[in-house]
Amino acid sequence: MHIASVGVSKLCFLLSLAFCGLLLVLIPTLQPPPRHGDLPQPRPHAKPARQGKDLANSVHNPGGLVLPVHAGKMPLATGRNGSSVRHGISIETGDTSNGDYGPGRATYAQKSPQGGSLLRGKNGAPPRSGSRDPLELKDIFIAVKTTRKYHKSRLGLLFQTWVSQAKEQTHIFTDSEDKELRMSSGANIINTNCSAAHTRQALCCKMSVEYDKFIESQKKWFCHMDDDNYVILPSLLRLLSSYHHSQDVYLGRPSLDHPIEAAERVKSDGSVSVKFWFATGGAGFCISRGLALKMSPWASLGNFISTAEKIRLPDDCTIGYIIEALLEVSLTHTHLFHSHLENLQKLPAETVLEQVTLSYGGFENRRNVVSVGGTFSLIEDPSRFKTVHCLLYPDTDWCPRVNPRQKN
Ligand code: UDP
Ligand code: MN
Repeated sequence: MHIASVGVSKLCFLLSLAFCGLLLVLIPTLQPPPRHGDLPQPRPHAKPARQGKDLANSVHNPGGLVLPVHAGKMPLATGRNGSSVRHGISIETGDTSNGDYGPGRATYAQKSPQGGSLLRGKNGAPPRSGSRDPLELKDIFIAVKTTRKYHKSRLGLLFQTWVSQAKEQTHIFTDSEDKELRMSSGANIINTNCSAAHTRQALCCKMSVEYDKFIESQKKWFCHMDDDNYVILPSLLRLLSSYHHSQDVYLGRPSLDHPIEAAERVKSDGSVSVKFWFATGGAGFCISRGLALKMSPWASLGNFISTAEKIRLPDDCTIGYIIEALLEVSLTHTHLFHSHLENLQKLPAETVLEQVTLSYGGFENRRNVVSVGGTFSLIEDPSRFKTVHCLLYPDTDWCPRVNPRQKN
């Protein structure tokens, strides 16, 4: 009996084992057939944060898309402050306004498909719609820095060209009284009484007066230019219209591919250094009123000169220092501004009129001008400013009307 019950238990055990095995084999076949939607999907590809050189190859837009940027060749040249500069970056969309190089906490200006400029980065307030309260030329204060020796050679060309379209808005900051210039131009000429020397102190002295006059003016935007800049006013208006003057906006083009480093002698004793971007003055730059007002403790009523003295840097670097290092507002890098530190020939001819500023340099040895043909020969118009002006304002009385001659 005992032996028989052991045999039955063993049999039951073996049977249950066999049943379990059968179930294991059958389970997959009893499952309903998989639907297409249940198939595993590829994971979205998360890209690592872009650093340094990589930024030259793409520009992000606020929607999260990464737009390809054609980074061209970026030759190195000796810059305004004896440092290397690079240039020649454009966007594959055929628009050279966008994208920029450089590591760190850079902010990038980018044109939207509608032509507005998209702001992103640290001070990435949404761009203004531009529909209500449209920005007008009269809202912009354009300061042109000059010196006595350039009154005839450089200013004459500016008065003949772009300044003629913005006489009220343009203010010439020079270093000596010139009655003839005042009478003949009818422009706003400000004698800063600063030294005519090309020293850091003299240039900062002029910038200090430019700043104070802007604050006094109640205008919405401050734009600084050198006297070898052509300002394409419709482009300037379009660019600034993308932002609001009450936002913190500092727009311009760095001449370096890295932030500048200086000993911090304003907030500390100079034992620590500070890194910041600055927009090169030779390409022009713009600052919103909202931001300019915040600069006041370090910029107004002569304070600009003492700030510059403390950090021992030129005027345009000091502007960058106040904005980026002291106020912690990022420069919005834009390629719409141009100085003669870059190779201007590389700017595609069909995009020249879309730029905000142009420049010229090196007539004597190596000509560096934008390549726009027609209207005037290189001998008649070595800077190309007259040619650009006639393309923008063909009704100007000195512009050829019919069949513009192709002289180049
Ligand atoms: N400038 C000045 N004082 C001088 C020499 C130049 O105010 O003694 C101005 C000049 O009118 C121009 C700017 O500084 O607006 C830059 O000068 P320039 O183009 O000659 O030199 P860059 O730095 O561009 O090579
Ligand atoms: Mn210059």
